[in-house]
Amino acid sequence: MNIVVLDGYTLNPGDLTWEGLQQLGNLTVYDHTDPCDIVQRASEADILLTDSVPLSAETIFKLPELRYIAVMATGYDGIDMQAAAEQEITVCNIPSYGTQSVAQMVIAHMLNFCHHLTEHSFSVKAGDWTESSGYCYWNFPQIELAGLTLGIIGFGRIGQKTADLAQAFGMHILAYDPAVSDQSHRPSFEWASMDQIFSESDFVSLHTPLLPETERIINRSNLVKMKKSAFLINTSRGRLIHEEDLARALREQVIAGAGLDVLSEEPPAADNPLLHAPHCFITPHIAWATRSARTRLMETLVENVSACIAGKPINKVLP
Ligand code: NAD
Repeated sequence: MNIVVLDGYTLNPGDLTWEGLQQLGNLTVYDHTDPCDIVQRASEADILLTDSVPLSAETIFKLPELRYIAVMATGYDGIDMQAAAEQEITVCNIPSYGTQSVAQMVIAHMLNFCHHLTEHSFSVKAGDWTESSGYCYWNFPQIELAGLTLGIIGFGRIGQKTADLAQAFGMHILAYDPAVSDQSHRPSFEWASMDQIFSESDFVSLHTPLLPETERIINRSNLVKMKKSAFLINTSRGRLIHEEDLARALREQVIAGAGLDVLSEEPPAADNPLLHAPHCFITPHIAWATRSARTRLMETLVENVSACIAGKPINKVLP
């Protein structure tokens, strides 16, 4: 079996091992692959592994022998699923390796707005504390999470784990998801409409996959429904947000801030409007990248490829 990894560097920049996959077949690992090189590199592959290299319909139709695509991530929006279905390709993903780490990043972005740790530390080192007249000062209002409302759009694995962590801080949870699940164990929780989430939340966090119906769900018409004091957090997919609209909302102080781990284009173009928007904190798509999460991802990847080879694929998202 020929196993080809198109972009192995992000999963394993050198601190993990490919040994598990090596034992399953003839493994070729490319650190990165430009779209123009995909077909040549994948032409001999029985199982093709991709993290963020997109597999368009045009590419997929040029790989008639391909039977399996193993996505090295949870989100598989980079694969043209219709083309994969037409070619009878099985696609599997890694459903839950990053749940804890991504939820932790949501809380990190929220706490950043509560305390502005980095800015205060820079201010102290610049001499501001030494020169201040009192024993303390703050450059930003300090926020306590207890009693505030977190609105969660997409209440699947990461949304629910985020709720667990937020509830430990004493937050009230509003959640919107077309698939309603039993949440009766939660002490301070309500299912809500999207409108209710936008108008009542102090923080709104996005956890829906990128789908045609979720693309740009954050746009001018929803941003203006939010409280002026509210913060938006996005660790899901950049294209859930209309970035021009969000940048404008931040400039006009329609909302108080945004904490983003993902952008519509990654890496972003230098003129991405959010790069210079005020009160916008951006991390470079690292919510998933703790060593613990990547180790789990690698373990599941080996299980997925092994199951494909055995003809009994697991974690299938297609068919
Ligand atoms: P999940 O499948 O467990 O949950 C997604 C939820 O979204 C489901 O409950 C689904 O019913 C809901 N949903 C579907 N359509 C919706 C809609 N129109 N409106 C609201 N909710 C809708 O997925 P998950 O494990 O929680 O992951 C969520 C997303 O997080 C992934 O799709 C991926 O894009 C992103 N992610 C990001 C990182 C990162 O490093 N930043 C890492 C892993 C995952």
